[in-house]
Amino acid sequence: MRIVLMGPPGAGKGTQARRLAESTGMKHLSTGDMLRSEVTTGSELGLLAKGFMDKGDLVPDSTIIAMIQGQLANPAGVLLDGFPRTVIQAESLDESLEVAGLPIDKIVHMSVDTEELVRRLSSRAVCKSCQTPYNLVSDAPSIEGVCDKCGSDVIVRDDDKPEAVMNRMKVYEELTAPVLNYYKTRADVIEIIATGTPDSVFEELTQAIETGN
Ligand code: AMP
Repeated sequence: MRIVLMGPPGAGKGTQARRLAESTGMKHLSTGDMLRSEVTTGSELGLLAKGFMDKGDLVPDSTIIAMIQGQLANPAGVLLDGFPRTVIQAESLDESLEVAGLPIDKIVHMSVDTEELVRRLSSRAVCKSCQTPYNLVSDAPSIEGVCDKCGSDVIVRDDDKPEAVMNRMKVYEELTAPVLNYYKTRADVIEIIATGTPDSVFEELTQAIETGN
């Protein structure tokens, strides 16, 4: 099974994809997590990506497409989080899946109003190592700055700082929202209002994936 999770920055795609991967055994493919781990190791790709990421800009399509190729045919199924983010990426994904004979089974759009997104992003933090997400207001780590899961540092991402957040919202509207229209002309897109708690959104999400609405 292949599921695409769409939604603006701060909609909770990463949180929900992680939970869904745990409960289903599917492989969570987050292009953002992959890029952050390249940045941490200081690879050539990481160095290139960091410049774009820190400003909230998108990393070039060709780089992202090359990075995700080869990961899509995972026999456990894949949960795509943060990809595709442009129509070019969506077209490339369609082509790769068609060649492999693997259709997209579900496309889920998680929507949250802008005010709530900004509120969430401004209190968001993440484990530098295992990428576990935290909310510094409602879901802080038990020991300040230390990940509950792996003990590494919990940090505020450079792209969660106010200037980058505004740019990410703009980039989402200009380049990623059209991907939703691209899919809507080809398939059913499941709509989820993702303003609730992580638990209630997860319940809605799993139900929607099982029943298709
Ligand atoms: P995310 O963790 O999904 O919010 O991604 C963090 C940052 O990584 C984005 O703001 C982009 O700079 C970059 N990124 C992640 N996924 C993609 C993608 N599919 N296309 C281009 N850039 C991406």
